Amino acid sequence: MRFLTVRYEGQQRVAIEAESDPHQLGFLPPAFSSLLDVIDAGDEVPAPVEWAVFDDVQLLAPIPCPRRNILCVGMNYCEHSIEFSQSGFDTSATTTSQPEFPIIFSKFGSSVVGPGEIIDLLPHVTSQVDYEAELAVLIGKQGRDIPVDKAMDFVWGYTVINDVTARDRQKRHRQWLLGKTPDGFCPMGPRAVTRDEVDLSDTRLTCYVNDELRQEANTRELIFSVPEIISVISEGFTLQPGDLIATGTPAGVGIGYDPPRFLKPGDCVRIEISNVGILENTFK
Ligand code: MG
Repeated sequence: MRFLTVRYEGQQRVAIEAESDPHQLGFLPPAFSSLLDVIDAGDEVPAPVEWAVFDDVQLLAPIPCPRRNILCVGMNYCEHSIEFSQSGFDTSATTTSQPEFPIIFSKFGSSVVGPGEIIDLLPHVTSQVDYEAELAVLIGKQGRDIPVDKAMDFVWGYTVINDVTARDRQKRHRQWLLGKTPDGFCPMGPRAVTRDEVDLSDTRLTCYVNDELRQEANTRELIFSVPEIISVISEGFTLQPGDLIATGTPAGVGIGYDPPRFLKPGDCVRIEISNVGILENTFK
């Protein structure tokens, strides 16, 4: 199933895209105003009570206000791991090889914005804003110490995230939070799809800046798989329904170029993940 969080007639609503016609949206009852309500309902998701077409709604991030920080995996595609280590922006770089254990950090939920929103480059705090196309996992049920072979049972579905990063802040402060979590630095959407819609062994991910292809990969190339990531994060830490895990970005980010190619006012970043959707945002 494919879910949208939208603004419709002044209200935030959750809608299902009709399988027969993706332009037709079926709104869930108003009590389901957030995708978090849908995730919490498990198998008890009600049928749509009202229908509209795409043109009648404003798309929002699938989860505009996450309950907690968004968990993120760093350096989880081999070629990106090498480009980041060699870029001079990785203050922990000791080797050009891939990490032995997953690198986990987070972005505050307050950084989330929706598809199509214009993102402020915040020139008073950074001059080195970069893009990172990523598949994000939505956790569907509570769990701790989850074994790898059970981890997919905890996946509700997926969405698209741009893990926007201020590289100068990431480098200067010798940690990742300040560079990762400014307002607007987590565009998300346009939709969330349930687990059955995505084949992790063969899902293509691309990122364009102003129609120039910058990143291209397949989720089968992840260094640490989705089940491995969930298992490691949940060691002694309880994952909750609605938690988001951004799984890492492939090679081709701005700092992978020499000289680096940071985002400029007017740039449009378009991320496409097969069968999940196209997330597009312009920067100012
Ligand atoms: Mg990232």
